[in-house]
Order: sequence, then structure tokens, then C-alpha cells
Amino acid sequence: MSIRDSRTLYGPLPHASTAEVEAHWHEYGATRGWWDPVTGVRTPGEVIVSNDTLPAYVSDNRWVAQCPCGGGIGCWTEMSRGCCYDCGTSYLIAFPAAKACADAVDVLTARPEPETRNWRPDRGESVADLKVENVKRGLRLYGREKIDGLD
Ligand SMILES: [Zn+2]
Repeated sequence: MSIRDSRTLYGPLPHASTAEVEAHWHEYGATRGWWDPVTGVRTPGEVIVSNDTLPAYVSDNRWVAQCPCGGGIGCWTEMSRGCCYDCGTSYLIAFPAAKACADAVDVLTARPEPETRNWRPDRGESVADLKVENVKRGLRLYGREKIDGLD
């Protein structure tokens, strides 16, 4: 089991591609609508495109980013953007380097409880830090079979 991402975080059904994920943003905006913090009402509307960048991190077995409105944004390493389903704003999403992401996922998936799969690279947490946590918990270093030092 891997870390969940935009394919399954924007429901109710999983999405197979980046195009399907993005299509769901627009469908959601057109049908459910975006939340207005002043009125507390959801109103159908277009996705708002921001060129601001938010850092991605892993929380509770999910790739996410924190929207400035307070909402959570589902992310996917294959997508350069994520959309907040509260305010309807699409932001650029910054991930750590691809190898670091892959290594982090490998270390996190050695943890049997999904809620313990957390990684804050935006706060300076390294893959080595995650490995130390696994050792302290008496877990393997990696979720997949792998010989340490050969990767
Ligand atoms: Zn938002």
C-alpha cells in the first residue's frame, strides 16, 4: 500500500489520470461549488487559478498541501497543481526531488498504521529522519524488500 494522492483523495471514485483529477475539480466547482468564508455558503463557480506555490507534505498517509484558506489540498507527485475543495483555488505544488519522494514513501510504507505515515520536508524533515523513526519503532527501514546501501 502506498501513500494516497489526488487520484483517491478527490472522490467518490478514484481517478486514473491527471486529466481526470483536474476534470473533477471543475465538475466539483460547477456542481457542489466553492465555500465563501464570509457567507458560509457554497456557490457553484470556476476554479480560481493562483500562481502561488505551496509545499507538499505527507499527512496521515496522504500527499497534501495546506491552503491559505485553511483547507487541505490533495496532491500527487505527477501533478504540478492541486485544488482546494473549500475555496476552489488551484495552486502550484512544490514537491521535494523525485528520488527523495520515492525514498520517503518507501520508508513510510514500512509503517503498518497509516496514521503514522507523516513527512514534513517543508519543515526540514529528511528521509534519514524517517528511517530513524522506523528504527525507534522497531520497524523495517523500507516498505518494500530492499537491501540497505544498494539503492
Ligand atoms: Zn482553500
